Amino acid sequence: MNTTAPNPAAEHPCSSSTPPFSNCTHCGFCLAACPTYKLTGDENNSPRGRVRLWGEEAAGRLEPDPMTDFYTAECVGCLACETACPAHVPFGELLEQARHQQVQEGRFKPKWPLRIAAHLVKNQAALNLALLPARLLRTLGGSLHRFLFKGNPPVLQRTADYARQLMAQHRPTGPRVALLTGCVMEALFREINFATLRVLVENNVQVVVPETQGCCGAFHEHMGFDGVQELRQRNRSAFSLEEVDAVVANSSGCGYALGKALAGGHPVLDVLTFLGSLETLKKRPSQPGARLYVDLPCHLVHGQKTEGIPANVLDATGLPWELAPAARDCCGSGGAYNIQNPGNATAILRKKSAFLNSAEGAPVILGTSNHVCMMQWNSARSMGLVERPYEVRHILQLLDPERQFTGSTQTPS
Ligand code: SF4
Ligand code: SF4
Repeated sequence: MNTTAPNPAAEHPCSSSTPPFSNCTHCGFCLAACPTYKLTGDENNSPRGRVRLWGEEAAGRLEPDPMTDFYTAECVGCLACETACPAHVPFGELLEQARHQQVQEGRFKPKWPLRIAAHLVKNQAALNLALLPARLLRTLGGSLHRFLFKGNPPVLQRTADYARQLMAQHRPTGPRVALLTGCVMEALFREINFATLRVLVENNVQVVVPETQGCCGAFHEHMGFDGVQELRQRNRSAFSLEEVDAVVANSSGCGYALGKALAGGHPVLDVLTFLGSLETLKKRPSQPGARLYVDLPCHLVHGQKTEGIPANVLDATGLPWELAPAARDCCGSGGAYNIQNPGNATAILRKKSAFLNSAEGAPVILGTSNHVCMMQWNSARSMGLVERPYEVRHILQLLDPERQFTGSTQTPS
């Protein structure tokens, strides 16, 4: 590691408005929460180690160094360290700033599919068109990739159109929400958006889907790309026009990012958190033999800082359920971490998914509330980490009045 004479600390973006490096007391409480520290036992691969590297660079005591870049890229971005940290070090903010700086300076280069995706998600119509064949293939029961869990996304009808149709048919009179449809969720997994609408309307919730909304910016934040402010501004404009009680999101990472964009405006809630606050919830019938194992997305518990998925919501699935082992720990998906760092992502998933091999239930259902986590969980079987069939479902699909069990919905190995 090279050290040099001090540089002006103000040149580092982290140092301009925040004093967070100095908050770290080196107590080490974050170590046990960190998946990359647990994998490697390497101090530099821990929250405390990364904060130290960034802080030294910001203070000018460490030159920009490939080691700093490497350990920044190793971070999953799960934010478990934020929850564990008694000194409230804003780790997520520091990580975003460090990644952005390293990408801008050419010190870190995300893989080419991610660079292409960063452009595509800025134009929802183009993304919808580009992924039309993939929607069609999913609906026909095929799969292009281990991440693509099976489903039946409407190929042409958009979520906004379906929302208008449902609202006209059922005329709910309860609280009014605006739904974030998401970029990849809408282009590839829109069956989950459709299920979300049915669940909300069935529970007498009015739903609007602002037409001018766009990508939440989470992907750009994760990868350090430019354009986050532009994406946030578009959603601020789109959602601030709506007279609603809340803005809801059905993917926890997107909801977390949208919450930052709309800070000071409408409250942004995970749909499941919102549903949990309703007095009564329509309950689905039980499914003999089935058992639900609930995994909690990092950006729901560590980002949005909720307690998890409300028990009354899980009860409303009608399924016997329990939290998956280590439910609050990362599954390795980390935005696009499982594409950028597949080795680490697989190692993290291997440990976390092992319980499925002996889990009871027919079918065994792994339920969560983030499409990125669903993709990661779906890949466990095709990678040989889990040797028996299981279904990967969004909890909203389990609450859906049109819920169907079709046997294993995961990609066959
Ligand atoms: S965000 Fe997750 S992977 Fe990164 S340092 Fe914190 S706990 Fe470790
Ligand atoms: S828990 Fe917080 S204060 Fe303690 S070492 Fe980790 S980052 Fe620093």
